[in-house]
Amino acid sequence: MVSYKKLGLVNTKKMFAKAIKGGYAIPAFNFNTMEQMQAIVQAAVETKSPVIMQVSKGARKYANPTILRYMAEGAVAYAKELGCKKPQIVLHLDHGDSYETCKSCIDTGFSSVMIDGSSLPFKENIKLTKKVVNYAHKHDVTVEAELGVLAGVEDEVSAAESHYTKPEEVVEFATKTGCDSLAISIGTSHGAYKFTPAQCTRDPKTGKLIPPPLAFDVLKAIEKKLPGFPIVLHGSSSVPQDEVDTINKYGGKLPDAVGIPEEQLRKAAKSAVCKINIDSDSRLAMTAAIRKHLAENPGHFDPRQYLTPARESMKKMYIHKILKVLGSNNKL
Ligand SMILES: [Zn+2]
Repeated sequence: MVSYKKLGLVNTKKMFAKAIKGGYAIPAFNFNTMEQMQAIVQAAVETKSPVIMQVSKGARKYANPTILRYMAEGAVAYAKELGCKKPQIVLHLDHGDSYETCKSCIDTGFSSVMIDGSSLPFKENIKLTKKVVNYAHKHDVTVEAELGVLAGVEDEVSAAESHYTKPEEVVEFATKTGCDSLAISIGTSHGAYKFTPAQCTRDPKTGKLIPPPLAFDVLKAIEKKLPGFPIVLHGSSSVPQDEVDTINKYGGKLPDAVGIPEEQLRKAAKSAVCKINIDSDSRLAMTAAIRKHLAENPGHFDPRQYLTPARESMKKMYIHKILKVLGSNNKL
């Protein structure tokens, strides 16, 4: 048993309480590689922001769970080396699919886990979530649960269409499970194709897709039922069009990729939404920088040559999110 406290990590409890009170949201960035981890830590330290570093099932498969845990431990040490005396870094399991996965993460140093029972019938979701909460709380680990279904694909999580969270279910769910935060569905979606062209309108000047707005009425109704309760938004990348254009310019093929406009996320961050998940934007920033570098420098073959601009580009994106969208800067 490795306690996250020994690794210098923190859980989400105080962090979320402060974020709701302060009207901002904590960034939850997924990571799989050393460059992503470095960029996240540099961005968090430079902006004095708390940060959630999250690991999906796909990341565990790609990088190996043990390595990811040591990377998170390394992230804390690296933040201190960069001059941050008391870094607030959460190591979070994204989309835990079973009690066993959650338990194994808790036992190996995660400070927060998500149990995603959103595809189960309501009562079974409660039962599974409660089981995870009981174990997690014994170790002071916080638990994120999910009600409602998001559309899109992210690693192995996929659903053809979304079902908004039903506000009339949230009180019973939160009370019976004892979960610490709740991921809801209000129209965000996983991946770089969050909406089909048929769901969007098209800007007549640029030909770019304009996505439908998030269901803020559903969010408001949930906030009314659960005042002050931490709410989480998944699938909240903005899919920056300049990155998509760079990828397409240098040999990529991402037609009609579309995300959530940042002004909508800015509005959400000021509400009870206190954790906003961003993964695709990091993938796009990295890929765009690598494609551009290799196209412009066909003789380069040292990974450090193209991973350096990739890391810089991700860091710039993380800093932009913290300062301009989430408002979590200067909160340490
Ligand atoms: Zn998700």
